[in-house]
Amino acid sequence: MAYDAPYWRDQLSLIEQKALLRKRFDVHSRSGVELVTNGEKLTNFASNDYLGLASHPEIVEALCTSARTYGVGSGASDVVSGHFQAHSDLEQKLARFTKRDKALLFSTGYMANLAVASAFANSRALLLQDKLNHASLIDGAKLSGARAQRYLHNNPASLGNYLAKLYDADKYDHCLVLSDGVFSMDGNVADISQLSEVCSSYTSLLAIDDAHGLGVLGEGGCGSVLSQGVSQEQCPLLIGTFGKAFGTFGAFVAGPEDLISYLEQVARPHIYTTALPPSLVDATSKSLSLIEAGDDLRTLLNQRITQFKEELSDSGFTLLDSQTAIQGVVLGDNQLALDAGAFLRARGFLVGVIRPPTVPQGSARLRITMSAAHNASDLSNLTQALKEFRRERMEA
Ligand SMILES: *Cc1c(COP(=O)(O)O)cnc(C)c1O
Repeated sequence: MAYDAPYWRDQLSLIEQKALLRKRFDVHSRSGVELVTNGEKLTNFASNDYLGLASHPEIVEALCTSARTYGVGSGASDVVSGHFQAHSDLEQKLARFTKRDKALLFSTGYMANLAVASAFANSRALLLQDKLNHASLIDGAKLSGARAQRYLHNNPASLGNYLAKLYDADKYDHCLVLSDGVFSMDGNVADISQLSEVCSSYTSLLAIDDAHGLGVLGEGGCGSVLSQGVSQEQCPLLIGTFGKAFGTFGAFVAGPEDLISYLEQVARPHIYTTALPPSLVDATSKSLSLIEAGDDLRTLLNQRITQFKEELSDSGFTLLDSQTAIQGVVLGDNQLALDAGAFLRARGFLVGVIRPPTVPQGSARLRITMSAAHNASDLSNLTQALKEFRRERMEA
């Protein structure tokens, strides 16, 4: 036998036994928050399309018009011949939007995070990051080869303690500190202004991954960093993604001229990959204009968030301390979380069922995301169904 098939089958059944098997399904059509899969119609509470821009007609039009002009694929890496005027234009707009000198596009947020960690940390660096950071930052730390340590979740004092304990000027040239702006599974917002305080006492470079904050938080959707009044000097590196509130696809890193120019030279996930299609970049530019003018959409989104929290406030469910569009209902047990997801699905609601290793052991949960495209009755129907599940399965 060329390979040990029973071994891999055993590995797979171990995953299944722990109720950790992930199952995909095919979406056959989508209209706003409605999905159709195998004839089943579902209201989608499992997407990060917070402003409903993924199917916005102006963005769709921008994509089609650009594709007719430039074709589909960019054809090469940004550093060879894949970089179009559209890319330069969007990078400039993003620099203005984030109040930073310069921005560099990446194909995905995952790659942007691998790039930041491996470009700004090496064996002469200490890398500290929040315990609940996104997997791409955790993987980036491994790739960097730096001495890495995770500090207590959203705890600047814990960061300070590790810096005091581990930072040794003979061993390290500098420290890179990484945090999500909005934590992707808990929905709480990092205390960025305190993190930057702590970083300022050491030679530490602070990078914030604002995948879930940009477009959603603050005036004009400026995100978690600017809405806390934190400047480029205090938080030099800002990572953003387009797959969430922007409703498109791709990512960027913005910051001071010298840091971003350096990143452009050394970031392997930028150099050794095909550039984003120009049509997608033009669609993202359109999305950025809608985001900047989108305070009405953010008001709608905030109404839905408030409604969700109010309707479940005395339901007995454990909600997380989140004021954002990411709301977690922690159930603990993996199978109970799966059952709750299936119960809601049978009633026409799609929610995220999140299990370890995405969240810590024993904290399996439903991850429910709000969108400006949900209406009040979409939401009250969902909270009713959740309460029904609780009565039938948790209180019986
Ligand atoms: C989604 C996400 C990413 C990855 O972005 P992609 O563009 O989807 O690869 C990175 N960081 C955080 C915090 C995220 O939630």
